[in-house]
Amino acid sequence: MTPLGERLVRLIAASGPIGVGDFMAACLFDPQHGYYTTREPFGREGDFITAPEVSQMFGELVAVRLLQAWQAAGSPLPATIAEIGPGRGTLMKDIVRTLRRLAPDLASAADFALVEASPRLAAVQKETLRDAGPTFAWHATVDTLPRQPLFIAGNEIFDALPFRQFVRTDRGWVERAVGIDEDGAFRFVPGTSALPLDALAQKLRDAANGTIFEIAPAREALMSKIAGHIAMHGGAGIFFDYGHLAPSAGDTFQALRRHRSEDVFANPGEADLTSHVDFAALAAVARAHGLAVQATTQGEFLLAMGLLERAGSLGRAADDDGRARIAADVERLADPDQMGELFKVLIIRPNAADADR
Ligand code: SAH
Repeated sequence: MTPLGERLVRLIAASGPIGVGDFMAACLFDPQHGYYTTREPFGREGDFITAPEVSQMFGELVAVRLLQAWQAAGSPLPATIAEIGPGRGTLMKDIVRTLRRLAPDLASAADFALVEASPRLAAVQKETLRDAGPTFAWHATVDTLPRQPLFIAGNEIFDALPFRQFVRTDRGWVERAVGIDEDGAFRFVPGTSALPLDALAQKLRDAANGTIFEIAPAREALMSKIAGHIAMHGGAGIFFDYGHLAPSAGDTFQALRRHRSEDVFANPGEADLTSHVDFAALAAVARAHGLAVQATTQGEFLLAMGLLERAGSLGRAADDDGRARIAADVERLADPDQMGELFKVLIIRPNAADADR
């Protein structure tokens, strides 16, 4: 058992089961033993590879999309170009490089910002972006971003925020919690609080006992803050994550360590814990702020943005090995059997009607 695991067992033994969301938050963000506070999860050496780490093409196409959004908004200045949950800072590095080439006016005048909850990762990002060109500002939350148009990207940020699970029982839907058995090992137990009864619970009325349903108030709260900022000050947001476009029941809690999935209780604090992102719920939050929403798969988005053309022009300057690598990266990012279909993208922006006013 990991040190954090032992502490959580003592906590649960002393005061009872904790919600799945609290377990996840402790495993990811515990100041002493949390996954994001202590470990280097990204890249081929780490636990998982993210799209910006697969290829520079990902960040280039995101930059082009942000540029289009900025131009569609009337090229406002001042404006903030931001990334939330930047990991190693690779995506921002590719965005800046691309903007400096395609839109030097924007690149030289924009305020560049990174929103990062982990001080350790913020330091890694500073290193990555040291020679990128512009000055960057780091923010621990989106609350402190400048009150001006915000063009923000995020990759695999929402899945890192805690979520809650409910399980169908004879007593109705109750929150699923983490308890311990006689041997002191973690196990799932039905908790006490009930699923807030709303239209969804109605829809799930006929679900069999044992069915799991997930909600993520923390993710919706983050989306609400970002959407609120864009509704008030203008801008646009583009967010990638794996998940579903329509709400659905099912257990998607998972742990990933060294590119393999493992039991969520196996190594608390040393594995990445995530669940699928409910894009329908996030889209509803953005719409409630009066924003227009566009959701599609990562593969469709990247192909529509010109992934193949970009790969072709990079390939022309490469040798045979380089071309083979680029082709493999394209497949990895966009093929339906790889990241192309499981990963979705959500774009939020002011309604065209509002923008014309
Ligand atoms: N976007 C990167 C990293 C994804 S991992 C990539 O694609 O490679 C999730 C990132 O979000 C980490 O940097 C983590 O520290 C950060 N993070 C988690 N919760 C956050 C929050 N509430 N606000 C800002 N960043 C957060």
